[in-house]
Order: sequence, then structure tokens, then C-alpha cells
Amino acid sequence: LARAYADPDRAYELDRRHVFHSWSAQAQLDPMVVTRAEGSHVWDRHGNKLLDFTSQLVFTNLGHQHPRIVEAIRQQAADLCTVAPAYVNGARSEAARLIAKHTPGHLDRVLFTNGGADANEHAIRMARLHTGKHKVLSTYRSYHGGTQLAVNVTGDPRRWASDNGSTGTVHFFGPFLYRSAFHATTEAEECERALEHLEQVIALEGASTIAAIMLESIPGTAGIMLPPAGYLEGVRELCDRNGILLIADEVMAGFGRAGRWFAIEHAAGVVPDLLTFAKGVNSGYVPLGGVAISDEVYRTFADKAYPGGLTYSGHPLACAAVVATIETMEDEGIVERAARLGEDIFGPGLRDLAQRHEGIGEVRGTGAFWAIELVRDRATREPLAPYGQSSPEMGAILAACTRRGLLPFANFNRIHVVPPLTISDDEARTGLAILGDALTEASPAGGP
Ligand code: PLP
Repeated sequence: LARAYADPDRAYELDRRHVFHSWSAQAQLDPMVVTRAEGSHVWDRHGNKLLDFTSQLVFTNLGHQHPRIVEAIRQQAADLCTVAPAYVNGARSEAARLIAKHTPGHLDRVLFTNGGADANEHAIRMARLHTGKHKVLSTYRSYHGGTQLAVNVTGDPRRWASDNGSTGTVHFFGPFLYRSAFHATTEAEECERALEHLEQVIALEGASTIAAIMLESIPGTAGIMLPPAGYLEGVRELCDRNGILLIADEVMAGFGRAGRWFAIEHAAGVVPDLLTFAKGVNSGYVPLGGVAISDEVYRTFADKAYPGGLTYSGHPLACAAVVATIETMEDEGIVERAARLGEDIFGPGLRDLAQRHEGIGEVRGTGAFWAIELVRDRATREPLAPYGQSSPEMGAILAACTRRGLLPFANFNRIHVVPPLTISDDEARTGLAILGDALTEASPAGGP
């Protein structure tokens, strides 16, 4: 960049003086300056090259600077940078067609938003208007976005500062065998008891008051807990029986991350009424999210105006990036590649790490979507950092990763392995080896 603001030291200085960062104690930050990024790597201002096992915030599914996406944005910028949502735009029309084509059950209409939180807000608004009911049920251990309603639906500590309004949100326990809320000892037991619990919550809250159940098809930041066989089918059945819409939040798990176009496809035949997406839909190159809508919900708004919209709904630059991303995924078999990465490299590789490191309590995941639970003691499962917090021990492991050239994704006591789906086999193995070395160096439980 031959521009005045390309000087990395000045960028850092200006950031610290003027940029207010998300979710952070401002004065305690020492953010990394990223001077360059390509494929699965980023470079910092000291010239260090880091393998990105985070896909940033789990969005660069096709890696950094993918030439097809960059070229599509460039061409769209040259043709027409922007146009209001009321006008038809070729990139937007094609993006909607491609997204709809891949949704389970063909959710044929798409409302575009700026990201995941507002996609969830709109999905809830649609569900409320469609059903004439108000409440939304969602799980503890979930994240649905940072705006007022989305953060209230969220089931993690990020909600706590904002849950002071009457938003009609109710939380329940989803299945999570490793830290079961139901004293279950098998996946089948966990599934059955979690469904019984949800059925009771519906009865006690009143089915006649509940518009929707919103679920991450595979909870992401909360811990990549794969739902046991039969769980999503059971939730769908409870929704049908009680006149409740099922909203699948696929913001993180969608677009190949879980080795399927959408993670909900792991529960064959389960079709949500509304499906929200963002992030991987265009590798996050230009902000975009949206809601894919069933025919039934669409019909509610066929002859009655939908009361909602956004200035940048279906922004042409973002939609051009969607078209290039999905076409690349189709042409290069990226979804199948993600599934294979999980089966051949991440699954076996992480399980092998767990054999060698006492500090790994559980390994779980699929595709390019994996979590390891770090514990002080395998028998008690005491987490290496308390719920909602980090710890000096977690900090030491993360610092060891970075020092060795790996950018890790961490949440509380977990490290997530969520690299671009385009990562090469060699890079994936290198990243796992670095993770192993970092655990050997810094995990209190030690290792070989
Ligand atoms: N839903 C899920 C499952 C997410 O992981 C996220 C972001 O991490 C969101 C919603 C919110 O998306 P955004 O940050 O684009 O508003």
C-alpha cells in the first residue's frame, strides 16, 4: 500500500489513540497489526508469518485474498459500486439464487442484512409476525450476535450486560454430554433428556406464547457441541407439534465449515423455517448476512408489507463476493474438502494430541470446525479457565502458539481449530504440530 496510512507503526499508534475495540477493556489492549495476509497466513508488523487457525472470526472460509473473490469485487466496483435495495441488481439476484439453491429444503427467498446479528433480529421479527406470538427460546451456551435482541437470545456471558429489557427471550439447555446438565452418560440419554427438558420448557412457558426456537445447528463459539443423533429431528417435531418456527442460525457453522453446505444437513431431512447466515457466505470480504425464508413464511408477507429493511441490504460489492465465493466452492469441491479435512487430518490429529496430552479433556468437531476442552484434571473435568473467563494457564498456551507461528482461536478453556477450508494438508498438519508443541511447553498437565 503506497498510502500514508500504510505505515504499520503509525497504524498502531492511531489505533490506540482513536479506535474503540469490540468486547474489550480498551486500555489493556495490545492488538496485532496485520500488514499482509494471503491464503491461510497473516503477517504482523515485525515480519512474523502466522498460520491462521482462526479464519479470523471464523469467516475467511476461502482464505485471504482469494483471487476470484478479489476480482469479482474489483469488477463490481468498476461496474456499479452501490445501489439502493429497492432496485434490481444482477449480483444481488444471482447471490440470492445461489444461496437458495444450497439451503436444505430450498428456502427460496433471501432477505439480505449487514451481518449475522441483524439476520437473527429479522428472522425473529418474521417469526413473531408470522405466528402472532412473541417469545423466542434459545440455548445456554450459544451466540447469536451483539445487537440488543440478538444478544438477549445469546446464551453466554456477553448477554449479561444487556439483558435488562423485556425481550421475550427464554433460555434452555441444549445437549452437551461432556458437561451434561442432565446427568446423562451416553449421547442417546443426553438426547432424550434434552428433548424432554425442552418439551417441559415449552409447556411451562406456554406454547401459545412462543414464536420460535432459535438454535445454532452446531453451536460455534460456545464450544462446537455436535448435537447427538435425533436431537434436531426431535426439536423440529416439538416445533411442529406446538406451532413454533425453527430458526437455524448457520452464521458460523454454514457454508462448508461443518463439511456440509449447512450444518443442519447432518440431521438428514430436518428443514428449518428460517435459516440465518453471514461470515462464510462470502468469506467475509465485504460485510453481508441474511435470512433464507420458507415458502410458508414468505406467504405471510406476499400481500402485506414486511416491516423492516436496511440501507445496504444486498450491497452489490458484498453480493459479487457471494457469487464468486459460492461458484468457487462449487467448482473446487470445497465442502467435500472440508469434510475430508475433518475425517483425515483434524479428527485423527486432534485425537492423537489428546492421547499425548493429559490436559485435553475432550476433542469434538467435524469438517474444519473443531474444539479441544482444556482441563486441569481429566477425571474431574475442571476447566483450565472458569466459564466466561480466561486464565494465566490459557494465556501461556495461546502465547506459546503465537510465538511458534500459529494464530489460535480461544474461548474460555477451549481452543478451536477453525482454519480456512482451503488450508493445505501440510499446513493443517503443521498447525496441529505447533499446537502440540505449545501444549508441551505451556500446559500445566505437560506432555511428551
Ligand atoms: N450467530 C452466530 C452463530 C455467530 O457465530 C455470530 C458471530 O460470531 C453471529 C450470529 C453474529 O454475527 P455478526 O457478528 O456478523 O453480527
